[in-house]
Amino acid sequence: MTITPERARLVIDLAAKTEFAFVSLDEPNRLAVDVRAGTFTVQETEGEPAGEGFVTRFAIEQAAGDRVRTVLSLSAPAQVQQAYVLEPYDGQPARLVVDIIPATPEEFAANVARDKQISAATSESTPAGGSELPIATRPLVVIDPGHGGIDSGAEAPGGFREKDIVLAFSLKLQELLVQSGRFDVALTRQDDSYLRLEERVALARANKADLFVSIHADSFQQPEIRGASIYTRDERATDILDKVLADNENTSDVIAGFVMPQVMAPEVVDILVDLMRREMRAQSFAAAQAIVHSLEPSVQLRRFPVRQADFFVLQAPDVPSVLVELGYMSNPADVTNLTQSSWRDRTAEAIARGISTYFDSLDEEAQ
Ligand code: ZN
Repeated sequence: MTITPERARLVIDLAAKTEFAFVSLDEPNRLAVDVRAGTFTVQETEGEPAGEGFVTRFAIEQAAGDRVRTVLSLSAPAQVQQAYVLEPYDGQPARLVVDIIPATPEEFAANVARDKQISAATSESTPAGGSELPIATRPLVVIDPGHGGIDSGAEAPGGFREKDIVLAFSLKLQELLVQSGRFDVALTRQDDSYLRLEERVALARANKADLFVSIHADSFQQPEIRGASIYTRDERATDILDKVLADNENTSDVIAGFVMPQVMAPEVVDILVDLMRREMRAQSFAAAQAIVHSLEPSVQLRRFPVRQADFFVLQAPDVPSVLVELGYMSNPADVTNLTQSSWRDRTAEAIARGISTYFDSLDEEAQ
C-alpha cells in the first residue's frame, strides 16, 4: 500500500479474478474493501502502510460469508476514486487496485449512510442476517491516449504535440467519468510513456473492458478538414483519405522501432470470434453514435462524424472500441481549440455524457 497526502493506492494480490465491494464506516472513520473468496485461509494481519497520509492503519480479517475484508483506518474522510482488477500478467498474480482520495466530511457521511441502508436492506432479506452487502460491479471504461514517448503523433506550429494534448484530454475524461460514480476507468498510459498498439488492445481485452476509447488528434491530408469525428473499425472501409489516416496511425509501432502489427489472418478467425466481432461492431457503432449526439450541440463536428476505418487499435473482437479524433492538428482552428483547456473540458464533458447514454441504452436492452 502506498500513500501520499492526496492519494492512497491499495493493491491486493488475488488467487483468481473475483468480485469486490467497498463499505464506508464511521465512529471511527474507516473504509473497508471486501473481496469475495471461495475457499481460503486468512492470516489476520495488520500494520501501518508505507508513506504518510490519511490512511493510518490497515487490518485484514475474515468477514461475514465468503469475504476477506481489508479495513483502512482513516485520519481524515476519504473515498474510493476508482478500482479495477488486473488480470494475471507476466508471472504476477491477478490484482485488485483501489485508489483512495480525500473526501469532504459531507461526502463521507453520505457514503456511510448509503452503506448502512444497503446493509439494513440486505440483512432483512437474508434470514441469517449479518453484514452481507451486494457486490457492485461497474462497467470498466479503458481510455487510450494515443501515441506517447518516442512517438509524438501529429505536430503543429508552436511546438504542440498530439501525444500531450490527448493525454491531458484523457486525464480530464477519466476524472469526469470517475466523478459520475458510474464507471471504473483505466488509462493505457498515465504519462508520456510509449505503448505498442497491441499492448493497448491487450490491456483492454485482459481486463474485460466494457468500452475502449482511443483518443487522438491526428493530421489530415486536407488541411481544410476540421472538427471532431468518431471512428469504428471496418477493414473494408472505402474512404481513401480515412484509409491514409488509419494507415498513418497504424505505423505508430514502426516509428518506435517495432514491426508492423499483423492483424489476425482470416483463416484463424473462427466463427465464434466472427460472431462476437459482429456484435462488438454493432455496439461500437452505437457508442460512436451516442458520443456524436452528445457532442453535436457544443462541439464542431466533421461532416459525417461517425466514420469507419481500419484502425489496428480497434481490433479487439470482444471489446466495443471507438477512436475519437478530437480535431486535426493540420487545421489551425482545430489546433486553437485543442490547445485550450476550456475547449478540452467542454468536449470531455460531452464525451462523458455520450458514454453514459451508451451504457443507458445497454441497460434498457437488458431489461
Ligand atoms: Zn493519433
